[in-house]
Amino acid sequence: MSELSHHLLDREIRERPPEYYGPNLSPVGLELRAQELGTGVHALMATVPPKDNNGVVFGTKASLVIDSGVTPGIGAQVQRVAKEVTDRPLRYLANTTYHGDHTFGNIAFPDDVTVITSRENRDNMHDLAYEKEMRSRNMYGAEAEFDAFTAWRLPDVVFDTYAEIDLGDTTVELHRFGPGNGPGDTIVYVPSARTAWTGNFLCAAGSSHMMLQGGPVPYIQGLRAMKAGLPELETIVPGHGPIGDGPQAIDALLAYLERLQEEVSTAYQAGVPIDDVYARCTDPWADGLDPEFAARLDAYPSPPAPMHADFLGLCRQLHRICVMMTYRICEKVS
Ligand SMILES: [Zn+2]
Repeated sequence: MSELSHHLLDREIRERPPEYYGPNLSPVGLELRAQELGTGVHALMATVPPKDNNGVVFGTKASLVIDSGVTPGIGAQVQRVAKEVTDRPLRYLANTTYHGDHTFGNIAFPDDVTVITSRENRDNMHDLAYEKEMRSRNMYGAEAEFDAFTAWRLPDVVFDTYAEIDLGDTTVELHRFGPGNGPGDTIVYVPSARTAWTGNFLCAAGSSHMMLQGGPVPYIQGLRAMKAGLPELETIVPGHGPIGDGPQAIDALLAYLERLQEEVSTAYQAGVPIDDVYARCTDPWADGLDPEFAARLDAYPSPPAPMHADFLGLCRQLHRICVMMTYRICEKVS
């Protein structure tokens, strides 16, 4: 992690409002259900959002799983559900980010499964105790589950910007378009289904956004690169929350980040103190959830009313953190 991003991450955590609650990513109550998106292409969707989603893709020779869950127990569940949709041998596990809720389950996969991710993701997987501490904020009482494992299985293979995996008549592409939520966000794209697993990089339009380490400017560049690099993209399976329309999600996040950068840097240059900047920035969730996003939430089996309220609260808190991070970057680079 670069010095600037480490500084920003530390600062972001210290400056979280006292009432801040992170998304609930606890394994308790997490059930994955397969949803077919194309031949040999299945999302493994958490029945309770925003707990982590996964995926499985298979060809004539082999299968590949996307992300491994927040604990080895969830890693085992991912494999169980994947086996229900394919008997092709599991050969690959792709990690979309280094965060523990996507990688702690790596250890539950057999040794002959090749774990692959971007170089930046692997470079950030060196301090298990720290990552457990970070993720324990999302465990909602299930923190003790982290005591059950003491190793973090690292990826076997890394790539810089692009890699391709042949599963037999089905190709999976791995892309790193640039830093976004984290430094190494990896997009897993299946051209035959025009579907991308986007990890923490991109959620369905209307969802909250979180940038942790790079700020809006590199994130905008990464999203533009994704838009140009995947012109046939139709569907995204985010790491958290409902499946979405890919181009719509990219455009929504681009618009959000461009406006955030513009509004915060203008206020900063005018000498407005951070505590007054929040009210000056457009809050897309000020009047509630986007109706289309709310309708996507209604398709979940969970009770809709508390889920809507939780999501709205989360979106507004993450928005506040995005404003604060952008402001701190203005200070740091000016
Ligand atoms: Zn995540």
